[in-house]
Amino acid sequence: MNEMTKIDIAVVGGGIAGLMVAYEVTRQFPDLHTFVFEKEKFLGDHTSSRNSGVVHSGLYYTKNSLKHRLCLEGNRLWEKLSRDLEITFRRCGKFIFCSNDLEQATLEQLKVLAEQNSVEGVRWATSAEMAGLKAFVAIKNAIFVPSSGIIDVPAAMSALEREIINHDGNILKSNFISRVSQHQQGFLLETRDGPILSRALVNTAGLWSVSLGQQLWQNGLDDYYVKGNYLRYSGDFYRTSFIYPCPLPHLKGLGIHSTFDIAGQVKFGPNTEDVKAIDYSIDLNSLEQMKSEIVRYYPSVGLNKLSPDYCGIRSKIKLNGQLFQDFWIKGQKETNIPNYVEVCGYESPGLTASPAMARSVVKMLGI
Ligand SMILES: Cc1cc2nc3c(=O)[nH]c(=O)nc-3n(C[C@H](O)[C@H](O)[C@H](O)COP(=O)(O)OP(=O)(O)OC[C@H]3O[C@@H](n4cnc5c(N)ncnc54)[C@H](O)[C@@H]3O)c2cc1C
Repeated sequence: MNEMTKIDIAVVGGGIAGLMVAYEVTRQFPDLHTFVFEKEKFLGDHTSSRNSGVVHSGLYYTKNSLKHRLCLEGNRLWEKLSRDLEITFRRCGKFIFCSNDLEQATLEQLKVLAEQNSVEGVRWATSAEMAGLKAFVAIKNAIFVPSSGIIDVPAAMSALEREIINHDGNILKSNFISRVSQHQQGFLLETRDGPILSRALVNTAGLWSVSLGQQLWQNGLDDYYVKGNYLRYSGDFYRTSFIYPCPLPHLKGLGIHSTFDIAGQVKFGPNTEDVKAIDYSIDLNSLEQMKSEIVRYYPSVGLNKLSPDYCGIRSKIKLNGQLFQDFWIKGQKETNIPNYVEVCGYESPGLTASPAMARSVVKMLGI
C-alpha cells in the first residue's frame, strides 16, 4: 500500500469476531473496500483457537443482556451458517448435573431460568439417560439442554476467510495496527505498510481491544484476564452429550466440564486462573487442582490418562473498577465517534454469539 491508501472499512483483529463482521460486511456491501488486519501469521491464533468450541444455549445469562440475546440468536444462526460455510455443526446437547441436595436447588433454579430465557426444550434427564451417566459422573439429578452443540472452529474460520476473499474483501495477516486516531475523513491507521485512511473502523482486537479503544476515547475499562486450562483424556468416557456441573456461585466459570471436539476427543476444563499477562504457558499446579475437582465430579476418570492440552484467556473487563458482566459493544451513541464500533469483554459465549454480534455491529456502523 502506498502512503494514505483509502479504504471503507477496517476491521482490527482476525479472530472469529473480526472475521464474522467482515463476512457480514462483504456480503451486505460488496462494493465497499473492506480490510481485516491481523497481527499474527495465522487467523484466530489467540482466543478463537483456544476455547471449547461449544455452541451455547443462552441459558446462564441475565435475561435480555447482550450475552443472552446474542447467544440465543447466534445459536439459531449457526444452524444455517454451518450449511452455508459447509462446516460440521452437531447439536449434541448437554447435561447439567447436581451431586447433592444443595445443588439440586440450583439445578431447579437453572431450569426455571432456561424457561425465562426462552431456551427451548430443557427437561429433566430420563432414567435411561441417568443410568448411562451414572457410570461416569457423581450424579444425583440432571437437566438436559438439547440446543447446545459443537462446531468445527478451525474449519469455520477457514471458510469465513474464503468467503470474505470471494466477496472481494481483503485479509492482511502479520499486519499489526500500531496506532489508530480520528481524522476528518474517518480513521488513520498505522499499518505494517504505512498509514491508511479508513472511513469506518471496527475494533475486534480481542484481548487487546480495550487498549486499542483507549487510543480513541476514554472507555473507562480495565482488562481482567482469566486463564482457562484444559486436560485431554485418553480413557473411555461419555461422548453422546457434554456434561457440565451445576454453575455454583463461587465459580468464575461454569465448573470443570467434559466436552469433546468434532473428532470425538474428550477434554476436561477450562478451570479459572487469574493472570496478569497474555501468556499461554500452563501452570502444572493449576492442573493438579483441576484433577482433584475432576475426580470428585467424574470418579471413573483415570488420572494417568489425563494430559495437559491447551489453555485460553478470557477477555473479561472491569468498568470503573467493577467486573462488567456483559459484552461491551459500543457505537457512536456511546462513544460519540461516527462509524466506529468497539467490541470488548468478548468472552464466552462469544463464539456462539458471533454471527448475531456481526449483524448488530454492521447496523451500528451506519455505513
Ligand atoms: C477458555 C475459553 C473457552 C471458551 N469456550 C467457548 C465456547 O465453548 N463457546 C463460546 O461460544 N465461546 C467460548 N469462548 C469465548 C470465545 O472463544 C471468544 O468469545 C472468541 O473467540 C473471541 O473472539 P475474538 O475474535 O474477539 O478474539 P481473538 O480470537 O483473540 O481475536 C482477536 C485478534 O485480534 C488480533 N489483534 C489484536 N490487536 C491487534 C492489532 N493492534 N492489530 C492487528 N491485529 C490485532 C489478535 O492477534 C487476535 O488474533 C471461550 C473462551 C475461552 C478463553
